[in-house]
Amino acid sequence: MQTPAHAALGDLLSYAGAEPLPPGTLVRVPLGKREVLGVVWNEPVSLEGAEPDMALKPVGAALDALAPLGEGWRDLVAFAARYYQRSIGEIALAALPPQLRDLSTAQLARRLKRKSAAGPVAETAESANPVALSAEQTAVLARIEASNETGTGTFLLVGSTGSGKTEVYLRCVADLLAREPEAQALVMVPEINLTPQLEARFKARFGEEAVVSLHSGMTNPQRLASWLAAHSGAARIVLGTRMAVFASIPALKLIVVDEEHDPSYKQQEGARYSARDLAVWRGQREKARVILGSATPSLESWHQSRPAEGEDPGGRYVRLAMPSRIGAGELPAVRLVDMNLQPPKTVISGALLDAIGQRIARGEQSMIFLNRRGYAPVLACGDCGWKSECPHCSAYRVFHKIDRTLRCHHCGFTERVPRACPACGNPDIAPVGRGTERLEEHLAELFSSVKRPDGGAVRIARIDADSTKKQGSLESQLAAVHAGEVDVLVGTQMIAKGHDFRRITLVAAVNPDGALFSSDFRAPERLFSLLMQSAGRAGRDAAYLAAQGAKAEMWVQTHHAQHPLFMALRKHDYVAFAQQQLDERRAAGMPPFAFQALLRADAREQSVAQGFLNTAADQAEALPGADIVTRYPAVPLAIQRVANVERAQMLIESPSRAALQRLLSGWQPLLHELRRAPEGKGVIRWLVDVDPHSI
Ligand code: ADP
Ligand code: ZN
Ligand code: ZN
Repeated sequence: MQTPAHAALGDLLSYAGAEPLPPGTLVRVPLGKREVLGVVWNEPVSLEGAEPDMALKPVGAALDALAPLGEGWRDLVAFAARYYQRSIGEIALAALPPQLRDLSTAQLARRLKRKSAAGPVAETAESANPVALSAEQTAVLARIEASNETGTGTFLLVGSTGSGKTEVYLRCVADLLAREPEAQALVMVPEINLTPQLEARFKARFGEEAVVSLHSGMTNPQRLASWLAAHSGAARIVLGTRMAVFASIPALKLIVVDEEHDPSYKQQEGARYSARDLAVWRGQREKARVILGSATPSLESWHQSRPAEGEDPGGRYVRLAMPSRIGAGELPAVRLVDMNLQPPKTVISGALLDAIGQRIARGEQSMIFLNRRGYAPVLACGDCGWKSECPHCSAYRVFHKIDRTLRCHHCGFTERVPRACPACGNPDIAPVGRGTERLEEHLAELFSSVKRPDGGAVRIARIDADSTKKQGSLESQLAAVHAGEVDVLVGTQMIAKGHDFRRITLVAAVNPDGALFSSDFRAPERLFSLLMQSAGRAGRDAAYLAAQGAKAEMWVQTHHAQHPLFMALRKHDYVAFAQQQLDERRAAGMPPFAFQALLRADAREQSVAQGFLNTAADQAEALPGADIVTRYPAVPLAIQRVANVERAQMLIESPSRAALQRLLSGWQPLLHELRRAPEGKGVIRWLVDVDPHSI
């Protein structure tokens, strides 16, 4: 009798089968009273002559209409599970489309039939007449093509905003498909709202059939259809957000990670993986080329792309540069407004107001960026000092004027705004600070008597998480901006990233100072890239600027105009900024010069959560790797309490990634045990975050 070992999704479990099934086969298996989806994980083993009491449950139906999941995919899942300290089953389950759990073999077979088989890509009108490449694009493409004959290697494409990085990606894909008709490419973007524009460009180039998307905004049937098309090879190009890194793409030969620095590539719940880092690993495993693109690379990638002297440069990234904008376009001139010289309580300085007014008069667009949604971050009573604290979190509730609510952005707790101060009855409670909603209102007042060139009123629009809740509303709002139906666009980071706006000639950041003095050592890096990205939305169309006789400008209002971050921003000097940050990080022994993980624990009481972490740290003393891994004392999180749960964390750090990994994997079983021990009583959950983004 052959007995294949099967993995039910959850953990590795063994089942008996009448015939051996190859690893990667999807199967239904009994688990308790239910039947669940599983993946055959290991080679089947024969149990002939084994102990008679090894009674295994029989495996259910195999979904053999589907080709087994490939070895590369299984290795990726196994690596991610090991590296991020999760179970194989958890990673695999999250990687498969949810609908796969419910469909029968017959239903699957029908779905598959609907998708046509793989074939050569259909030439489209656009692919027949592609644009002429710039000199920088040509050089970069030649360097990528020349990398070596096998088509492998990892590249860091450092290209200014508007330098035409997307065109480079398109050409790399086109070259690949011309060279290898069966090959597939994976192209990742950080945010769902960037997928429609990119999808349109790829479909125009390669045809509707060749391209599928994968992101969390899709319905389950859509996700299944995309996944099947990628798995069967029918889709040649898979576009998606971080989840797409786990797609089954059997003939994967090229991976592009656009805006590789973007924090959205880090999954922040469940298995806390970095899709960018997994993409690099997957590329090396599959011998696929990897292109990481950004105007402001993560300091990790930048550091990795510089071959250290005397060291073996193997495994490092080849750095490629495209400093110029397409069509002799210039990056916007950066103007710093010293807010110390403005009258108190100034929201928008007079000079900035004038500059926006001039844009309106010429029919151009302006974009105003403020990374805080809602009307005001706090509502307060001037008499007794009451503030709109959330009763469940250590945070203030945000005032949303539009529906007169106080909303907690951490736990969601929402109440109507009280008529008077709940503490003293003072009817005069007032908003403190400013979010996008209030800024929009303020701008409407400021420009209420200004007229557009056609005599109409100034049109102000706001794009943020609140304005785009309804399905399709973001698309329609962006379309209105592209169609020139908006004069002044207000928004959060949603509008700062990626979009190829054509008529925006002014971008302003009105209050970016908060991130300069954050306790999070990554905050300056994030602020710098966000400001560079925002600047990148202005003056993208050189021909339009010339026709208008306009110059693109980026305005920054700050109380710290001499800060090195703004000095570098003024010159669009990423390299200087990166150098300064890396020097600081090296001196302080922080990433990328050290490797970190967080051990988190949640409990009803802070002392319980911290006690668990400190006991765990004591237990780790004897583990291999412990001598070169620093364990810091447990501390509360910056937002200590969310939804009545107290949160604590412990930073773990080592100059050796291998030592950190060794310690974590030795720690894992101890932590599970500790959770069940008396010390673990009261701990609601614990988790490990490897390479955490914010500490
Ligand atoms: P990035 O991603 O680097 O910010 P994009 O790829 O969006 O820049 O390119 C900016 C704009 O320039 C886009 O509208 C794109 O269509 C256009 N573009 C790119 N390459 C060329 C080229 N070689 N000739 C003309 N236009 C180009
Ligand atoms: Zn009061
Ligand atoms: Zn709350």
